[in-house]
Amino acid sequence: MKDFLSKLGIKHENSGTSTGQEFLKDVTSEKITSYTPSDGSEIATVYETTKSEYEEVVQKSQEAFKEWRMMPAPQRGEIVRQIGEELRKYKEPLGKLVSYEMGKVYQEGLGEVQEMIDICDFAVGQSRMLYGKTMHSERPQHRMYEQWHPLGPVGVISAFNFPVAVYSWNAMIAAICGDTIIWKGSEKTPLCGVAVQNIIGNVLKANDVPEGVFSLITGGREVGEWMTTDERIPLISATGSIRMGKQVAQTVGARLGKTILELGGNNAIIISKDADLEMAVRAVVFGAVGTAGQRCTSTRRLIIHESVFDELKDRLVSIYQSIKIGDPLDEDTLVGPLIDQDAVQAMQNALKQIKEEGGKVITGGEVLENMEGHYVKPAICEVKNHYEIVQEETFAPILYLIKYSSLKEAMEYHNGVKQGLSSAMFTLNMREAETFLSHRGSDCGIANINIGTSGAEIGGAFGGEKETGGGRESGSDAWKAYMRRQTNTINWGDELPLAQGIEFDV
Ligand code: NAD
Repeated sequence: MKDFLSKLGIKHENSGTSTGQEFLKDVTSEKITSYTPSDGSEIATVYETTKSEYEEVVQKSQEAFKEWRMMPAPQRGEIVRQIGEELRKYKEPLGKLVSYEMGKVYQEGLGEVQEMIDICDFAVGQSRMLYGKTMHSERPQHRMYEQWHPLGPVGVISAFNFPVAVYSWNAMIAAICGDTIIWKGSEKTPLCGVAVQNIIGNVLKANDVPEGVFSLITGGREVGEWMTTDERIPLISATGSIRMGKQVAQTVGARLGKTILELGGNNAIIISKDADLEMAVRAVVFGAVGTAGQRCTSTRRLIIHESVFDELKDRLVSIYQSIKIGDPLDEDTLVGPLIDQDAVQAMQNALKQIKEEGGKVITGGEVLENMEGHYVKPAICEVKNHYEIVQEETFAPILYLIKYSSLKEAMEYHNGVKQGLSSAMFTLNMREAETFLSHRGSDCGIANINIGTSGAEIGGAFGGEKETGGGRESGSDAWKAYMRRQTNTINWGDELPLAQGIEFDV
């Protein structure tokens, strides 16, 4: 057993329900086995949540909500502050577990935990800033204002590729808003959920906060569907594939519930003839091969001006040939494994389709059969933007090179996909940069100049347009999605005037 696992309270068999404890473990429960993609070996198992356990979790969450919503928001912030402190203590073992269970390199595992700490800090401040507006009433001696109330138990469904950070973006903001949280993480990374739940559990116990404020359930699509169909859960925040998002939107929409959808991307960088190529190359490589191309914000398409196309291509190919691929916990590794064999197969299928549609694989794409685990060489391909395969998000390190000659053409390629998450342009030309950020520029939720598509900070609202789902999480005023708005009018006079000057004498 690796020592970081025991530090996080991970055992051979783990309860996957509520605050990481055993109290609900149902003996008939199925187990989910977690394997490390680094060598394919089994790490540990987690009991899958049964329907009866799910019922208990929702009831505990509803009960906890009654207490939690009445705690002043800054006091809820204090609990979140302590969670942030606890995460600081566990940053190293949790970063290692993220790396070991998901396969991203250790530095990125640490980065995920840091993101959790950052959102805790942000949420603490936000807990004193749940501002509502006041309005001047048209009626004399009347006051109008709006206030924000918590929603209730919020369901968070998350993806394998950010097994802890995405949860915390939702959970810490929802918590300071006064909601309780029921989290179903990915069935591919169940141990990350158990570890985070154990860490949060320490804080809840020390403060006598009901454990139903933060609950964990484990399982796959079916368990997710218990949540999406459940009228007791007014908001579902779901992160994952577009296919999943369409199902969740329909199911939750059918009961007129609320959703925050954070779905797939097909992110591009435009490299202008006026780009600083040195900076562009570094940003492209991090964006395209970081997390082995398994970020929602991974750079998938490079739209390159014809005058710098060959130079950029040659530089990228030479860097790709020396990228160190291997054990994600090894400090020298830049690219770890893909999550599983299905992901390796999906990448191989995509490379085949690229060739069938007329594209060229210039470098990489091979499966590293000699290594245990799901390792591939990141690939660079020359393609046309309209190819069907280029229009899709293949969740693997494939970088598409597309040539352009005018900015108008570049923008058409850029926006000519169904997804709209992250985007970037490298240029030192102010007119081009401002065009890219203007109403007729990028149609994505995130648009950057002279930095890449991935690696967002928590301070901004994170999310995307079109098939990316339209949700926003994390910073800015994303907190509003976790609350309900109420408009209040108070008459402090002794008459009852009606709005719009309507006369109604009785
Ligand atoms: P996935 O869609 O296979 O699964 C995501 C989660 O949804 C899992 O917990 C799964 O059990 C659950 N699920 C699946 N079908 C469901 C249903 N019908 N009802 C309820 N729950 C259901 O995605 P994945 O392979 O884990 O993650 C990769 C995808 O996630 C990529 O498309 C990536 O771009 C996207 N992603 C998006 C963001 C973002 O913020 N936009 C962030 C991370 C990942």
